[in-house]
Amino acid sequence: MCRHLGYLGRPRTLQELVLDPPYSLGVQAYAPRRQEHGTINVDGFGVGWYTSRRPEPVRYRRAQPMWADQSFASLAPTVDAGCVVAAVRSATPGYPSEESGAAPFTHGHWLFSHNGALGDLALARKALRDEVAWVPDALAPVDSALLFGLALARWEGGSSLGEGLARVTREVAELGGGRLNLLAGDGDRIAGTTYGDTLFVHESADGVRLASEPCDDDPAWAPVPPRSLVEVDRHGVVVTSL
Ligand code: GLN
Repeated sequence: MCRHLGYLGRPRTLQELVLDPPYSLGVQAYAPRRQEHGTINVDGFGVGWYTSRRPEPVRYRRAQPMWADQSFASLAPTVDAGCVVAAVRSATPGYPSEESGAAPFTHGHWLFSHNGALGDLALARKALRDEVAWVPDALAPVDSALLFGLALARWEGGSSLGEGLARVTREVAELGGGRLNLLAGDGDRIAGTTYGDTLFVHESADGVRLASEPCDDDPAWAPVPPRSLVEVDRHGVVVTSL
């Protein structure tokens, strides 16, 4: 199970969000505290964020472990963002460890990450794969990419970001399931689902973080109940049952 992190709030540097906390995503790459599937997250990483220069996010990914990338260490203190989606990857057996398989996936305004695995479903359901062929990132050789394409396909009706995630989580769960913790951002909102693994929410005066596991020992980290959708916008946090 990979680890992922979403942030919405006052602009903060990628360094503050992803590297500085004592149990940051950077630390979770080699020493996660709550990981139940897999042990370390060394099969690549990615960070996506929004700037004032264009509506689409910037996305930085590498196939190597986060700690081994000196270029990311160099840029992280210089980039501020108010909406971020980041992940460190533990590749599910059967899928290659390469940059295109690392979250976040992106299309239009979307950033997307997945903690979990689809089992045989991704391979068996050619019909689903045909449905997402219009999304370049959905063609990456990893089950998470298929989920991203489906989330976009289900969202294309003007629904909210969270509804797109909830629909694909429910649909795939009915088809046979797997572990489906999804996380997405669009610049103004972030949303996540819990279906098979943990997710924590942390609210502060600065903003809201959603993370697979707490990044520090602040008691404000609260677990999101299993099988939930959590949606965050500038008005606050709403958790609903899936
Ligand atoms: N199945 C996805 C991958 O292979 C996510 C893996 C995970 O959550 N560890 O990248």
